Amino acid sequence: MSDQIRVFKFGGSSLRDAENVKNVASILKRYANEKIFIVVSAMGKTTNALETVVEAHANQTGKAFELLEEVKRSHYQLAAELFPENHDVFNTINDSFVEIEWVIEEEPHENYDYSYDQIVSVGELVSSRIVHAYLNEVDLPTQWLDARDVILTDDIFREGWVQWKETQQRADQVAKPMLEKEGFIITQGFIGSTTENFTTTLGREGSDYTAAIFSFCLDAVDMSIWKDVPGVLTADPRIFDNVVKLDRLSYKEAIEMTYYGAKVIHPKTIKPLQNKSIPLFVKSFIDPEASGTFISSEVEDNYPAMVAVERDQALMLISTRDFSFVAEHHMSFLFREIANRRLQVNLMQNTAISFAVCVNDIDDKVDQFADSIKDAFKVIIDRNLELITVRHYTPEVLESLKRGKIVLVEERTKNTVQMVVKHVPVIRRKANVPTDLR
Ligand code: ADP
Ligand code: ASP
Ligand code: MG
Repeated sequence: MSDQIRVFKFGGSSLRDAENVKNVASILKRYANEKIFIVVSAMGKTTNALETVVEAHANQTGKAFELLEEVKRSHYQLAAELFPENHDVFNTINDSFVEIEWVIEEEPHENYDYSYDQIVSVGELVSSRIVHAYLNEVDLPTQWLDARDVILTDDIFREGWVQWKETQQRADQVAKPMLEKEGFIITQGFIGSTTENFTTTLGREGSDYTAAIFSFCLDAVDMSIWKDVPGVLTADPRIFDNVVKLDRLSYKEAIEMTYYGAKVIHPKTIKPLQNKSIPLFVKSFIDPEASGTFISSEVEDNYPAMVAVERDQALMLISTRDFSFVAEHHMSFLFREIANRRLQVNLMQNTAISFAVCVNDIDDKVDQFADSIKDAFKVIIDRNLELITVRHYTPEVLESLKRGKIVLVEERTKNTVQMVVKHVPVIRRKANVPTDLR
């Protein structure tokens, strides 16, 4: 067996039903003689379903148990298609869900985000238990690792920030000894723990990031994320036609595209890999033989136009209530308030008396921010906007993207155009990206 560690991440789509779990095992069979460190997400849309449990519990709608029952049922059904009737895995699944029952039997915790993490993390825990049991069942000896024993975060629930030094130490102490043993290791994406051993999550879609954290700490030779697409495409195939696969991509290009909404890779994934020059493969679990996309430090200079669309954007226009200029001494205050709330800033522009900032509008952070500055500033918020980022743009691509939209802010640099847009209210059709995207 080789000493080289490779990290594989399988997301929700690759584990959405029993057939897909079998497919994951068959992919792993090809690597039976290698040291594979596996990171898995919750199965299918489990995280969304568990979010409804959190919501129901917090609002005391009386529906939390019913909603949980549905999640449990789908996991038992999936397991029933993979295991004999009296297999231990059924007790393990039950034990995982009991953790949620304990939380929802109690009054809602005053910190919503805390309860969220305690409940939603079970999706990854149960998924990793099922896949672990199945791999052992099909003679792929695999050890199970609790990611919370390695990944230490701060105590900002739902958006835990990794404490790298301690995480590295814990990886050395806990994960590295496991690599001495034959076979694979499996762990959960998306979750971590605070110093007080409370479970945290790393932000939605964070499992790719987990795989990168382990790749970094274990000095992996490469990392692969297995997706339902052939690799990284020039744009999201759910929104655009005429997209093509990119064979190679530099870390820099990948960071730019994912930060601004190319949903195929979590934005925090690339940096830890880049810092240790660990290449990343984005591969298809439907066609595992195909080459996918190879992301490394090598620079390509003839990229086609690439488009990323980030929805749920809010544009805040901030101006002073007195006669001072925004830039004079208000910037540091505004930036501090933005950072304290962990608002993701995607674009900003300032004039003498106003400051426009476009941020992700996914929970109540924008309102909290606006509220915190309202005494000193006038704030106008425009919501339900899209941020469109185009790398390596051509005039034709820009023109076609602007069709049917009102552009509220636009910013251009040599390689990138960003625009905050509002849709002209017409019946929406799937946009047809011009062939220049090829
Ligand atoms: P996972 O199963 O790992 O959670 P995701 O569903 O989060 O996978 O990510 C894969 C999806 O990302 C694809 O199905 C595709 O619709 C979407 N996507 C968005 N932008 C791109 C892009 N530029 N290239 C490829 N896929 C993209
Ligand atoms: N299960 C989590 C989510 O859906 C994490 C992930 O899939 O990456 O957000
Ligand atoms: Mg995902």
